[in-house]
Amino acid sequence: MPEGADSPGTAEGKGDPSPSPKRALIVGAGIGGLSAALFLARAGWSVTLAEREPLLNEVGAGLQLSPNVTRLLAPLGLLDDLEGIAVKPGALRIWNGTRGEPLSRAPLGKSAMARYGAPFLVVHRGDLQTALARRAKAQAAIDLRLGLSVESISESEDTVTARFRLADGSEETHAADILVAADGVWSKSRGLLGMPSATRYSGKTAWRSLVPREQAPLFAREAEVNLWLGPRGHLVHYPVCGGREINIVAIIEDSWREENWSAPGDPVQIEARFLGWHRKARDLVGSAETWKRWALCDRPADARWSSRRTTLLGDAAHPMVPFLAQGAGQAIEDGATLAALLRDAQTPDGIAAALNAYQTIRLPRSARVQSEARRQALIYHLEGIPARLRDAALGLLPAGALLKRYSWLFDHDASAPAR
Ligand SMILES: Cc1cc2nc3c(=O)[nH]c(=O)nc-3n(C[C@H](O)[C@H](O)[C@H](O)COP(=O)(O)OP(=O)(O)OC[C@H]3O[C@@H](n4cnc5c(N)ncnc54)[C@H](O)[C@@H]3O)c2cc1C
Repeated sequence: MPEGADSPGTAEGKGDPSPSPKRALIVGAGIGGLSAALFLARAGWSVTLAEREPLLNEVGAGLQLSPNVTRLLAPLGLLDDLEGIAVKPGALRIWNGTRGEPLSRAPLGKSAMARYGAPFLVVHRGDLQTALARRAKAQAAIDLRLGLSVESISESEDTVTARFRLADGSEETHAADILVAADGVWSKSRGLLGMPSATRYSGKTAWRSLVPREQAPLFAREAEVNLWLGPRGHLVHYPVCGGREINIVAIIEDSWREENWSAPGDPVQIEARFLGWHRKARDLVGSAETWKRWALCDRPADARWSSRRTTLLGDAAHPMVPFLAQGAGQAIEDGATLAALLRDAQTPDGIAAALNAYQTIRLPRSARVQSEARRQALIYHLEGIPARLRDAALGLLPAGALLKRYSWLFDHDASAPAR
């Protein structure tokens, strides 16, 4: 049993301020859990971060970090850590996937920086998770525990307690002032907290591959985010890992579904799916030797996330299809807002009020991102005349208009929530 386990961080009566740091127990050390731990530690909380996996493997592929996210990572020192690892794309380019014609170009790079005061970055998920974990391990206020899978959660008026199973079959119990469930899209915590846990399959799967730069077609090596739109599918590609690897994601409409981030995908199957596409798109797909795939799902927005002592964060709260590239970003925003609201919460009632304010602020914003992402999928996968109309509309957009459309998303500062 680790030091302090089973004892809540406060022994004071309800309403008494306490000089000792408040204690948070976070379930899941993915992008959301790790960043929330760092934000909470900066807000003066002591954090136990319990992760099911025995190792934080560098699993996954590319993530886009838009200015609403990099703005939050900067004070944690993460932008310095990611220097030379994350790539700063100069533009977002949109192409017609079957004709190979350029449809639109949105400047990113310096333009995004000038407009939003924070950069637009693309990064390998493993690189971001490693950088966050390194920061967390260096913080005395954060106890990162690997190999702990949550089994039960119980809440009293002023304390929450969770039981975890370890790989050897033994158990550990931890208590804290709050519990934050950040255990991802297939969250077990949701069920333990009495929340609906079934996900909603989108009818689409994502296939991802990392191709060494020298093996990728020349056009794919540029420091740009590229989006190819076609009938019932689209492709996204950009460099990651300091430009050494090209991240390729192919989204197709499909009926396959499995709860797995990294199921193997057969290259022959995905190449066949893009046969009618432009040569460049086929070259891109053909340059990948191995593929991983995962089934895309989300969940209708909840009515609530928080109880008096518990709340949800990241994909456990608001899984979303990735067509606005905001899964990681919204998880990071959650942590920043939660910590800002908990900074001055000292009493049990104050903490409960902060958790309530957190859901009041974060639920509508993440619900909007969820629904805009779903809508985006419909637009991306149009066919025939609707697709022609979409392409014509994109072609008429003046420079800068595409970025302006996303101001509601990119302008937001989640670390300064208005109560
Ligand atoms: C292995 C993996 C690969 C991914 N690859 C991609 C990708 O290529 N592209 C992309 O856009 N998104 C990917 N994602 C999803 C992306 O990271 C999330 O959508 C986003 O970052 C939101 O983060 P999150 O912290 O809410 O969830 P996640 O990043 O999924 O983290 C959840 C964490 O909770 C842990 N966990 C789960 N169950 C338990 C339990 N019972 N007890 C304790 N801990 C538990 C998981 O091991 C994981 O570390 C991946 C996620 C994972 C876990």
